[in-house]
Amino acid sequence: MLDIQKIRKDFPILDQQVYGKPLVYLDNGATTQKPRVVLETIERLYDRENSNVHRGGHHLSVITTEHYEAARETVRQFIHAAHAHEIIFTHGTTSSINAVAFSFGEKYVRAGDEILLTEMEHHANIVPWQMLCERKGASLKVIPVNEAGELRLETLDTLITEKTRLLAVTQVSNVLGTVNPVKEIVEIAHRHGVPVLVDGAQGIQHEITDVTDMDCDFYVFSGHKIYGPTGIGVLYGKEKWLEEMPPYQGGGDMIKKVTFEKTIYEDLPLKFEAGTMNYIGAIGLATALDYLRDLGLENIMAWEQELLDYATARLKEVPELKIYGNSSHKTAILSFLIGDLHHSDVGTLLDKLGVAVRTGHHCAQPLCDHYGIAGTVRASFTFYNTKEEADWLLNSLLRIVEMLK
Ligand code: PMP
Repeated sequence: MLDIQKIRKDFPILDQQVYGKPLVYLDNGATTQKPRVVLETIERLYDRENSNVHRGGHHLSVITTEHYEAARETVRQFIHAAHAHEIIFTHGTTSSINAVAFSFGEKYVRAGDEILLTEMEHHANIVPWQMLCERKGASLKVIPVNEAGELRLETLDTLITEKTRLLAVTQVSNVLGTVNPVKEIVEIAHRHGVPVLVDGAQGIQHEITDVTDMDCDFYVFSGHKIYGPTGIGVLYGKEKWLEEMPPYQGGGDMIKKVTFEKTIYEDLPLKFEAGTMNYIGAIGLATALDYLRDLGLENIMAWEQELLDYATARLKEVPELKIYGNSSHKTAILSFLIGDLHHSDVGTLLDKLGVAVRTGHHCAQPLCDHYGIAGTVRASFTFYNTKEEADWLLNSLLRIVEMLK
């Protein structure tokens, strides 16, 4: 059992008022708040230990390099990858997907090939593949969702063809909260010889993630959505792919030898880490992962499930409120519309009552098109949220309905 009131004290930002009301932060899908230990780590690094990694032989550079490589090992353990050199640091999920789309695409995708996505992908897992298809003369195919917001997996066997080069799927939908059966998807794709990229941006912080058990070929996520700093993310790739794929950026640190005639690239992981990396961000991310490990992901998942059940039941008390995403396996994301009220009007009024939610298409326009809507109001809960905050959301919505009807 987690002591939520004690945990909230670890997140200094939560303890404030907006417009004279206590802040109720329900926009964790967009970004999460940072525990004090992450903030303190970053301050200490800049204060006492900062120097560029893999460069100098001097004391500060050596200890920063040690912390950076230890951070890589922490990430490896957190996602259960086989090797630390399969962990590449990037700027975030978007840059990880772009890296794979470019590098994997350069090597393996030809005119007439197909990339298979799903209808519930975030734009970050659509646009880079579309750009690849445009460059190569390939095309996108899409696994549809059903009314509950689950993937129609029965279509998979016919959607995968001999031209499919890669399947990209989100672990958890950022709009619906649906937890996709990624292990099963990987199994089916691999039966057809198709590699799979899993977008873990909304999954890693809410589900126990084991890339070895999942057997995915690539797994990507962002530090800022898992209580770590912004500007840092991870690309996990199986060694066999990363070894074969070309670097997508050239520069310092990713080389063994440079002459004007030819460059010999570094071994993994540095081959994919050109230039000065966000090493402070990587160390901050590792601190956040340690923090989560200490709380226990099982405990976090249990509390978030309780919050989801409670908040779902309470929201149903609002007349004409419709929830989008009703899978039996979902994270604590509640996307909804109320009658014909505009999502942004509801969001603006919630803000005035201290409640931070996200409104709009949530960077998933094709999914909104599927439902024939322009967007939703999205309340995304995490382990530092409380049932009292769900009550405040409900009461605020009832007031807003009164006001706008
Ligand atoms: N994929 C999903 C499922 C997301 O929710 C997000 C962020 N909303 C992204 C990708 C992109 O993440 P980032 O902006 O951190 O690169």
